Amino acid sequence: MILVLKQGTEKAKVEALCTWLSDSFAVQTSPIFGSGTTIIGLVGDTSGIPVETLEIQDTVERVMKVQEPYKKANRKFHPDNTVIKVNDVLIGTEKICLIAGPCSVEGEGQIAQLAADVQKSGAVMLRGGAFKPRTSPYSFQGLKAEGLMFMKKARLATGLPVVSEITNPAQLELFLEFVDIIQVGTRNMQNFELLKELGRVKKPILLKRGFANTLDELLMSAEYIMSGGNNDVILCERGIRTFETSTRNTLDISAVPVLKNLTHLPVFVDPSHAAGFAHLVEPLSRAAVAAGADGLIIEVHNDPLHALSDGQQSLTPEAFTKLVAGLRPLAAAVGREI
Ligand code: PEP
Ligand code: MN
Repeated sequence: MILVLKQGTEKAKVEALCTWLSDSFAVQTSPIFGSGTTIIGLVGDTSGIPVETLEIQDTVERVMKVQEPYKKANRKFHPDNTVIKVNDVLIGTEKICLIAGPCSVEGEGQIAQLAADVQKSGAVMLRGGAFKPRTSPYSFQGLKAEGLMFMKKARLATGLPVVSEITNPAQLELFLEFVDIIQVGTRNMQNFELLKELGRVKKPILLKRGFANTLDELLMSAEYIMSGGNNDVILCERGIRTFETSTRNTLDISAVPVLKNLTHLPVFVDPSHAAGFAHLVEPLSRAAVAAGADGLIIEVHNDPLHALSDGQQSLTPEAFTKLVAGLRPLAAAVGREI
């Protein structure tokens, strides 16, 4: 349920109404002081709330029922875009954020060099997997804690915030120490115990869409994190399973405008895991920017032919430089910048 308040309602009155509601009913209140109006979002059991009583309050303009099962992630709850601050980087503004780096951290020198390279080309954050969820148990599983330590060193050297994927709640302590944004991968989008843990932390979460999940399911996973108190969730479309075999996954480009409509959370696109092939990453990145993505996460490797994971879809630093240069005028054409 959403209460839209009358223009100019004082903060003290908003707070008093919230206190009354949470004391009298089994609901949590989230007041949002937006650019135009103030609204109060209510989650919990709203069935006992007498709507007629609310409607005659001198502060309440309108009472709206929210049909969708996701509440805190719903744009109706928070009409303005959510902006997430990570050090000096703002996510969810007109500036499109580029995250780049290798699929896996492979060594201290490798990640340090790639961090410097992608920063020079325009990336504002560094990616690198340390706990790798591989299809085969015989494939490289990542450098684990050591990999995260190398990421942190790269951050110290460049100032780039770092993003890495968590695969198990037991790793949380390490991630809190070494990482700026915690990534939840496609295979864990519905690992609800992990999501609940991430709801309790004070770090932004990059939540990737499960390769066989609907957008409503993605939003419900975001709701798991947000209902625990962590509102800093970035959604990421990374391709879904379809009958098409010419790409690794099918980039669901329509996910971008659909999500932007349904939610206030920033929406990113990962063209690398969607494409599966390096030569498709640039055109898919362009499509994502044109469709309104708030950011891109792109795999870049110093030696794609010998990468320990996802070399086929990884760009060289030179190709990444070219990609960013090509995206700049495109971003400007849709009222954004890079
Ligand atoms: C990754 O980012 O390296 C990764 C494994 O992504 P996804 O979960 O989208 O497959
Ligand atoms: Mn990868």
